Order: sequence, then structure tokens, then C-alpha cells
Amino acid sequence: MTAPEPFRFPVAARYAGMESSPLKDIFALAARPDVVSFAGGIPDPALFELEDVRAAYDWVLTHQGARSLQYGVSEGEPELREQAARRVSRHLPTSAGQIRITSGSQEGLFVAAQAMLEPGDVVLVESPTYLAAVQAFAVHGARMIGVETDDHGVIPEALERSIREHHPKFVYLIPTFQNPTGRTMGTDRRREVAEVLLRTGTALVEDDPYGELSFTGTTFPPIASLPGMSERTLLMNSMSKLMSPGVRIGWIRAEGRVLDTLAVAKAAISMQSSVVDQLTVARYLEVCDLDAHVARVSAVYRTRRDALSAALTPLLPPGAHVTLPDGGMFLWAALGEGYDAQAMLADAVAAGVAYLPGWSFYADNPDRSTMRLSFVTHAPEVIGSAVARLGEVIAAHGAR
Ligand code: PMP
Repeated sequence: MTAPEPFRFPVAARYAGMESSPLKDIFALAARPDVVSFAGGIPDPALFELEDVRAAYDWVLTHQGARSLQYGVSEGEPELREQAARRVSRHLPTSAGQIRITSGSQEGLFVAAQAMLEPGDVVLVESPTYLAAVQAFAVHGARMIGVETDDHGVIPEALERSIREHHPKFVYLIPTFQNPTGRTMGTDRRREVAEVLLRTGTALVEDDPYGELSFTGTTFPPIASLPGMSERTLLMNSMSKLMSPGVRIGWIRAEGRVLDTLAVAKAAISMQSSVVDQLTVARYLEVCDLDAHVARVSAVYRTRRDALSAALTPLLPPGAHVTLPDGGMFLWAALGEGYDAQAMLADAVAAGVAYLPGWSFYADNPDRSTMRLSFVTHAPEVIGSAVARLGEVIAAHGAR
């Protein structure tokens, strides 16, 4: 008797080839205790406000116990939508009714993709852009096309050309302290981009998880707040980088009929985000001073950005380009002609330092000499010695 064929579980074509990724392997390597990793965008856990969060959970379980353990509504709990609306209203008048709560912005991106995308649709993204957004759009059958960027973000002329050629369903942008580059679109650039979107009748998904992590005190109004833009933009914020990524709370701010579609999509995916977590974040936002917390976190991150930038910049080869972000978590270096950051990584890890090769952040035409380094996780002393070792690896690869 022949042995039965091993059962092959049916998997959708859209997930084929996604089972393993080189990035998973990098994160595994980077987790080794002997490696100083700049690879992940992981907030420093030492900065979490554990006591405030404990008090908020305690208050919710004491005063809203049964309700907090029950099913809720797909739109999100009213208290949290009210708090979210207040924060968004600092730049853009927003009512609680215009907020949809999501389990982090990652789910927000997935909900938006569910609500908008048909297989074959084009989504225009910055080149480079946030990898996991590309994945959330790709599994809905979208084709991502990268738009050229400079130090001020996406280039308006290139954006307009690409919109007219490809007729995208929407444009996806991270205008402030972008992942992966750390770059920010200034006021003029935002206005020019808004004009292109208005002129071409194009929708925008504006992802803003980092905007409040400013090192200069300057915060930028979202593109959604520019004249004519609010009705054509899904604006996404997240508590992940401000309060805690573990609570998985974010929101989408939208207007008009798409709000109903977003709620139906959210219900289809997960009914609603955790009620106890939503009520706790609402309580935390009501009684704690998140702005003061964010200012403390930003001050720490700023000294770490300075340490990374000061250590890395002199070690880069001539012609390399490195960003000096005014906020957020990431610094982006392009080593230039002849370098391959992916090929260099094994030597870097052997030297006890890890980063993310930049190629994976491109929808198309990757610059393989690029790397993303997160500066938020380690203290300045650790950063300095690890970067010195990275410098030796870069020098060795340049000499090849
Ligand atoms: N968008 C961007 C640009 C991000 O960098 C991240 C987190 N790395 C997310 C969305 C998702 O974050 P979360 O789901 O934790 O809100």
C-alpha cells in the first residue's frame, strides 16, 4: 500500500510565498542577547507609565466592570471616540461620530483596504514606505506603485504624473516622521500634495502614528486638515507609539458614507476592538496627561537620535546620505553605489549589531544600499559602541 500524500492545507494565492520572510529571520537574529539591534521600531518599555495604566484598568473594572467585559459596538466605545475626537480636533474639527476605533493602525489599514480595494486596484505609495501597509493592501489584491520622494517627502509633480497614468484607488502617505525614513513633509509640500489630490479627484489614506513624537516642539497639521481634504482622507492615529503598542488601540477619522462602510468592515473582521482596553485608554486619556508623557518620551528619544546620528555620520562613506529626523523613531541611511545592506547584514550581526536592510520598504525599484536604524531602544553609551562596530563592517564592505 502506498503511503497517503501528506495533506496540503489549502492556502489562498494572495498569501502564497508570504510564509517566511527575510525580515522574520532578521528579527530572530536581532533578538540574540549578544546583538545590539536597531532593527525594530520598539518603544522603550522603561518609559511605559505602568502605574497610570494600572490605575485606569482598575477604575474601569471597578466602575464599568460588567460593561467592560461585554460585547460593544463596531464603531468603538463612545468615551474613547470622544477622547480621540478631542485630540484630532487640535488640528481638524472632528466629532466622536467621525471616529472609528481600530485595533492599532495596522488594523486601520486593513479595514481601509477591505472597505475600498478591488483586486487589481492600484495604490500609490511613497518610495520607500511602511512595509506592513504594503502587505495589508497586497493581500486585498492591490498593485502598489512607488512614487519618487526627496528629503521633503513625496514629489508633487511625480505624484500627479503617476495619478494620471495609473488612476489609483487611493494614495497612501505617512507625512510626519515617516517610517522608514524619518522624513517630514513641510507645510508647503503638504499644500502642493493636497492641490494635486484635489485637482485629480483622488482619495488619501494618511497614516500618522508618529506626528506627536516631535523633538522640536513643532507638530504638523495633517494633510486632512487642509481646505477640501477632510472629506477625501482617511486619517489614522494610534496609541502604540504614545502610550502602549500592547493595548492595540488606534482610530480612523473619516467623513460621510464611508464611515458606515468602515464600521461594517470592522464588524466583519473582529466585531469590535477589546471593550476593556478601549474604556481603559479612554479613562487614561481623560485623567492622565498624555502630552506630558509624550514630551518626556520625545526628550529621551531626541538624545538617542543625537547619539546615533553623531556616531554614524562620520563613519559613512563619501556620497552616503543620512536623514536627521525631527521626531519619530527612525534614521535612514543610503550608503550609495556599490553597497548592498542586505548582503552586509550577516557581517554586522557577527559583529553584534543589527539594522533593517532598506530594500524591503520599496514597492518597486529598491535602493539596496539603504538601511533603517531605530534609535529609540538603546541608551546612548550602547548606541556609540555598537555603531563603531557597524562602521568597521561598512568600511570592510566598501573596500571590496
Ligand atoms: N503605520 C506605520 C507607519 C507604522 O510605522 C506602524 C507601526 N510600526 C503602524 C502603522 C501600525 O502600528 P499599530 O498597529 O501598532 O498602531
